[in-house]
Amino acid sequence: MLASRSDAVTGLWQYRGVRIFTFVQGPIENNTYLVGDEASGEAMAVDAPFGSAEVIVRAARDNQLNIRYIVGTHGHWDHIADIARLRRLTGAALLCHPADEVLLMDPDRMRAFGLPATIEPVKPDRHLRHGDILTVGALAFRVLHCPGHAPGHIVLHEPKQKICFCGDVIFAGSVGRTDLPGCSWETLAQSIRQNILSLPDDTRLLPGHGPETTVGAERSYNPFVR
Ligand SMILES: [Zn+2]
Ligand SMILES: [Zn+2]
Repeated sequence: MLASRSDAVTGLWQYRGVRIFTFVQGPIENNTYLVGDEASGEAMAVDAPFGSAEVIVRAARDNQLNIRYIVGTHGHWDHIADIARLRRLTGAALLCHPADEVLLMDPDRMRAFGLPATIEPVKPDRHLRHGDILTVGALAFRVLHCPGHAPGHIVLHEPKQKICFCGDVIFAGSVGRTDLPGCSWETLAQSIRQNILSLPDDTRLLPGHGPETTVGAERSYNPFVR
């Protein structure tokens, strides 16, 4: 069965029973992802920037996917702006790391981060911690805690599918900024060494901004991690 591709979908990848929809949304062009397991129809949304809730819901509906989880990679406003709305529309469980929960519950704290509009506060349903496994149909995501860009930043690694949703930890040729409150370059560098560069080279890195890359490409060419 071919997935239906609406105008808002900027990327669609289907392979080995998994579908990954990529949407670029919000004022600073965030990637938001909808990941579905074809056999079970279970799905997960990764981050929800401004304007993304309806887009994600429509893609899920058009492709018979049931969103069970919404994961916030971290609590920065550009990643969570539509997360309360998406939860309301889907009834899915909202998950994040406990260290960034405060940013979801009190988004006004992000005034220091250039917050451009009011964001609806929301209380996460469950915490994800380092070492947890999040199951979406046949997909089993390992939760890796990667502080440095944000205290509660997590990435989601699926070893069999060789994919990793890495938020703002690492980008193609760059890394997350560390000049904001709660950031630390030393901590971020350690997170990248321990949790990203330790993954197999052919692992696809699906970041919060910009094009996807691989662990091998970043190991070879990323000037911040060489
Ligand atoms: Zn961020
Ligand atoms: Zn970001």
